Amino acid sequence: MSALILDGKLIAKKSEENLRSRVTQLKKLNNGAVPILATILVGNDPSSATYVKMKSNACTRVGMDSLKVEMSEDTTTAELLAEIEKLNANPNIHGILLQHPVPSQINERQCFDSIDLSKDVDGVTCLGFGRMAMNETSYGSATPKGIIRLLEAYDIQLEGKHAVVVGRSPILGKPMAMMLLNKNCTVTICHSKTIGLDKIIKNADIIVGAVGRPEFIKADWIKDDAVVIDAGYHEGGVGDIELQPLVNRVKAYTPVPGGVGPMTINTLIYQTVEAAEMKLRNNV
Ligand code: NAP
Repeated sequence: MSALILDGKLIAKKSEENLRSRVTQLKKLNNGAVPILATILVGNDPSSATYVKMKSNACTRVGMDSLKVEMSEDTTTAELLAEIEKLNANPNIHGILLQHPVPSQINERQCFDSIDLSKDVDGVTCLGFGRMAMNETSYGSATPKGIIRLLEAYDIQLEGKHAVVVGRSPILGKPMAMMLLNKNCTVTICHSKTIGLDKIIKNADIIVGAVGRPEFIKADWIKDDAVVIDAGYHEGGVGDIELQPLVNRVKAYTPVPGGVGPMTINTLIYQTVEAAEMKLRNNV
């Protein structure tokens, strides 16, 4: 039996069709103005530059605009905070993306938290996280929210399932665990100090790999009929989970590439359109 492929590329493409018509509608109602996502790139990291480019290309595909802010490697926290303040105050900007990671001299948490909640479309603020965790209206952190949207698109049953999330970073593992809990999963969160990781994973109905180490989670730790979500991406097209031996025996899995990555970008754009619609409703 071959597993169901959770095709993030396909679901993101379908979502873009829907977003394109919502942007057209917003444009009509807004005297020709379209939603705008501001992207902030600090420093010279080539992968970060690629991610920002992919995000602004996705804006273009759905008819939105993006405003690129590029800042030098030696930017200070105060300079970045001042830039975010300008974008917060700009009524034409609907969403703000601060590309992670920023250079080490910057207080990233302080900068994330200075993003206005109504423009936090990448779901990085503490306040947004808290609201999401309490099941209140919020924009979710884009990668875990994208994973939830992908699972929903394929009608994967979550309620009552044992979900194991490996990784507890503020943008991925931790919000992922809260989102799965809010879907009535029983959740175990694992991290670098976890003892007996393989045995914990053996009990997982749903496993999310968010470790940042190539094929760190071994195929033989994963039971037959599990749902396997691999958030990692490394050179050579491998993720954080050893996927190849699993494709004929698990229930479903996300391919690498083409699984979680496209859903992350799509969720950022989706939440920016939601923010623009919300602003329009509030102005009426
Ligand atoms: P991160 O901030 O480096 O966090 C990695 C997590 O893995 C930490 O919580 C760490 O535990 C845990 N970990 C490290 N070694 C471990 C071990 N031996 N056993 C168990 N847990 C261990 O990384 P991240 O930003 O969350 O990213 C995780 C992965 O997702 C990376 O591969 C990244 O490239 C990918 N990612 C993909 C997207 C996308 O759009 N597809 C977006 C973001 C990230 P401690 O907390 O104890 O240190």
